[in-house]
Amino acid sequence: MAKKKGISIPERVPVASQMYDIEIVEGLADAPTNCWGCCNEASRVIKLTAEFPDVATMLVSYLHECLHAISSEYRVKMDDDDVDRVAQGMTQAVIALVEAE
Ligand SMILES: [Zn+2]
Repeated sequence: MAKKKGISIPERVPVASQMYDIEIVEGLADAPTNCWGCCNEASRVIKLTAEFPDVATMLVSYLHECLHAISSEYRVKMDDDDVDRVAQGMTQAVIALVEAE
């Protein structure tokens, strides 16, 4: 489980009627992958880097990969740019929620 500032990445996440396993991977952000995360909808595995620079990047990456899974399981057509924008918007909404008194 990856933890940063009180937010923990779970070991699995439910999406529709399925369960996606989450793996924390050392070096995922390094070449040749160069990404914070990836989602394999066929095997239902989300991989996230172990090296997030800050909590906002961790949150947006987690939501981004979950949105790929949601897009697949609920058959909502979203390209990677759509996923990126919704993940950014959801991150702002969640940070406001977490920071609310
Ligand atoms: Zn993506």
